[in-house]
Amino acid sequence: MKKKLPITKIKAKAWNLFSRYIRYRDCYATTGTYEYGICYTCEKKYSFKKLQAGHFVDSRTKPVLFNPDIVKAQCMGCNVFKKGNKDFYTPKMIKEYGQYKVLEFLELRHNKDKTWRREELYKVIEIYQDKIQEYEQLARNHVSD
Ligand SMILES: [Zn+2]
Repeated sequence: MKKKLPITKIKAKAWNLFSRYIRYRDCYATTGTYEYGICYTCEKKYSFKKLQAGHFVDSRTKPVLFNPDIVKAQCMGCNVFKKGNKDFYTPKMIKEYGQYKVLEFLELRHNKDKTWRREELYKVIEIYQDKIQEYEQLARNHVSD
């Protein structure tokens, strides 16, 4: 029988993949490469490795944690030291999604459910493993002049 991994380990793996997905997505969207990206909030250029996946909504409820609409590539300065750099995050989100959607996003913090079940986390892992494979394939085929 397969040994059961502790849920914290599965969650960490899911986060690791999700974070890579966000950074690949935003690197490509902002620079057209998979090696560099622009921080969503300070708009400076960083290498993929220096970028983090930063939440717009400060909570880890179920509809927040792995929600790609409210997580963007940010530098450590903005994500950690400036706690998300919301002075820039909020207006940019409003510009991108509109104020009603942004209010909906902010409401997600009041959801009480934070308990991830194993099969839900495995689903997250499966989804983002596939997406990352696609990106890595694209990155390999990406010809830069
Ligand atoms: Zn930044």
